[in-house]
Amino acid sequence: YDEIRILLGDQLNAKHSWFQEKQDGCLYVLAELHQEAQYTKHHVQKICAFFDAMNHFAQALQKAGHECLYLNLDDTEPYKNLVHLIESLIEKYNAKVFSYQLPDEYRLRDQLADLQIEGCKVLAYSTEHFYLDESEFGQYFHKDKHNRMESFYRKMRKRYSVLMDGDTPLGGDWNYDKKNRNTLKKSDLEAIPEPLVFANDVSDILKRLERHNIKTFGNAHQLLLWPTTRQQARKLLKHFCESCLPRFGQFQDAMTKASQHKWSLYHSRLSFALNAKILSPKEVISTAIKAFEQNDNIDIAQIEGFVRQIIGWREFVRGIYWTHEDYREKNYFNAKRELPSYFWTGETKMRCLSEAITQSLDYAYAHHIQRLMITGNFCLLTEIDPDQVDDWYLGIYVDAIEWVEMPNTRGMSQFADGGIIATKPYAASANYVHKMSDYCQDCEYSHKEKHSENACPLNSLYWRFIAHNEEKLSQNHRMNMIYSVWNKKAQEEKELILNKAAGVLRNIESL
Ligand code: FAD
Repeated sequence: YDEIRILLGDQLNAKHSWFQEKQDGCLYVLAELHQEAQYTKHHVQKICAFFDAMNHFAQALQKAGHECLYLNLDDTEPYKNLVHLIESLIEKYNAKVFSYQLPDEYRLRDQLADLQIEGCKVLAYSTEHFYLDESEFGQYFHKDKHNRMESFYRKMRKRYSVLMDGDTPLGGDWNYDKKNRNTLKKSDLEAIPEPLVFANDVSDILKRLERHNIKTFGNAHQLLLWPTTRQQARKLLKHFCESCLPRFGQFQDAMTKASQHKWSLYHSRLSFALNAKILSPKEVISTAIKAFEQNDNIDIAQIEGFVRQIIGWREFVRGIYWTHEDYREKNYFNAKRELPSYFWTGETKMRCLSEAITQSLDYAYAHHIQRLMITGNFCLLTEIDPDQVDDWYLGIYVDAIEWVEMPNTRGMSQFADGGIIATKPYAASANYVHKMSDYCQDCEYSHKEKHSENACPLNSLYWRFIAHNEEKLSQNHRMNMIYSVWNKKAQEEKELILNKAAGVLRNIESL
């Protein structure tokens, strides 16, 4: 072969210009790599989803007439890493050109950037997936300053003319949060649609993982429910537009125990297909907008809420990631505690944590508010080392890739960046959890109590977090109200709360 083109597991973009015509003498390679299965401890469904999707992609390329080599974990065992594999392939096929698409994370990008092979030209291409080109980041993002999603999002809406009426936002407002973010009443539960799931046989992949002693966690399903082909991903998008989009915004922040059966509520679960690039963000946005235009049951507040997640948040965190190379070192609160062991089992008496963790172990999925306001909030209040928090999020979710995981975890949820992404920490007491979910109803802890024996640990932890970080946070005008509530409390009450919190932290393993 004259040219070898490698495709990584999250580069499954069938619409890429590479595939628009057949290239004689060109070999595409997709490889299940040991380094990718092991760079962190992954949820077993996450590895299965990537490997299965890669395998299907290779088959689709072959069917379309491209030459394609698929290497599984058995085949790649002799190679110590990606670079070693590439060097061997180039030598074997005597290729004159090696091409790759730019990886979306530093780890892989650095590995490929160092590649130097005598007599072989190395070419790097765009993945042609995102709205923004990397060369444009400088116009939108500022290093180590507060970057505001809302102003970024408005620029994106205007630039790409998404939900616009000339120069003004369709419907008159940029944001319909006030209409959205309702809680679920008992009468709403019935109407939640059953999640559309698939049944991809991954038994061979599971056997390979075992044979190669790849350490994973979470519950394995022989029949993987995540979409791993383009056809399945499009089916899920269609299902979302028909059954979930009409109420997407309305219940975006709600949580319920019913989520054990209808575990994704009105969320799309498109993140894996998007992040593996099986679907493009433009395709998702245009399909959803078409559904909005053609159906009276989808109002502007629902479609705007959805559009914001994709052309807003998703593109925004990517820009933050690439403009902050040192993000992984940030630890604003100097948090150092170990992640408690129930994060790997779900076995805690705190009902909210146990629900969110168990669901994550079962499905490699939790929706945004479970990630931000349940597990994330708990780690923030208990000062868990952000490296450990990052590792957990990077491993457990089917959609977790560092460029999107890290800004969300370290920045949004842990405020370890000191406010590059968020205007204030997303810290909450049991009051929030009780308001937005039914988790507290049959919890062993009381969401109302602050310092009694069975008081919800979140309450004392919350006030401890506020008191403990006064120097760092009290200048933030968005925190003024909270500090004035804290400062009005009687000294005796403060001491009871802080003593309770100290006890909770001492016994963090047995909550
Ligand atoms: P929906 O609620 O249906 O939203 C639609 C799409 O919008 C998602 O598929 C996703 O592509 C995009 N989106 C929504 N919110 C965000 C966001 N904050 N950042 C980027 N894209 C967003 N998302 C990941 O894709 N990978 C991660 O590793 C990841 N880690 C996270 C860690 C924490 C601590 C938090 C708070 C959030 C994280 N998110 C991550 C963002 C978000 O929670 C998920 O994208 C979402 O839950 C995926 O489910 P969904 O497809 O049903 O999303």
